[in-house]
Amino acid sequence: MPITTEDTVNWLQQLAQVLHENRDYLTQLDSPIGDADHGINMDRGFKAVIDKLPTVANMDIGSILKTVGTTLVSTVGGASGPLYGTAFLRAGMATAGKNELYEADYTGMLEAALEGIKARGKAQPDEKTMVDALTPALTAAKEAQAQGLELSQMMRRASDAAEAGMKATIPMLATKGRASYLGERSIGHQDPGATSSWLILKTLADTCA
Ligand code: ADP
Ligand code: MG
Repeated sequence: MPITTEDTVNWLQQLAQVLHENRDYLTQLDSPIGDADHGINMDRGFKAVIDKLPTVANMDIGSILKTVGTTLVSTVGGASGPLYGTAFLRAGMATAGKNELYEADYTGMLEAALEGIKARGKAQPDEKTMVDALTPALTAAKEAQAQGLELSQMMRRASDAAEAGMKATIPMLATKGRASYLGERSIGHQDPGATSSWLILKTLADTCA
């Protein structure tokens, strides 16, 4: 079964709820290696997305995702605003005009989002950022697609890989973003952005299950 426009709207509504519930958790993760605002940033951004949703809910998936991107760019001040904003804008460009997403659309969307984040933030894997959750997620999605798995299983594999990637940020030394200011002291803490990236993919998998 494809991801429909309705699934996309449900995902974003559910995601706003999940990010609200995880607001304190994400902010706690951002306190030893950042400025303790990641949960606040994500919650604020997705509250604004929910306010905008009624105006775009009947449009194609690409238009919805582009609106998410512009809303995040204009409402989230931290690094995560422009980074996730670019990710959703690129995902929207990759799905322009579509009302249903199939297996190849899902990997294409994920790849476009990740490339957008890397272009904007100049981060590569192993720098302790959201890239470390999204890179293994894309690899897992592509592998699942090559194995002929159906979309719901692909989304679960991607979400599980993002979770493993998130956990793998704990021993990493941060070399991008605020956490990099701490040098060696960034080691031993889970990256907040990798954590929100996992929540985004997990909520999509859960919504479409
Ligand atoms: P800020 O760091 O401005 O306070 P947030 O706290 O909302 O913004 O987001 C922090 C997260 O952003 C980090 O945990 C990391 O995953 C991500 N991040 C920061 N800089 C970069 C970058 N250059 N490339 C990719 N991700 C980054
Ligand atoms: Mg922060």
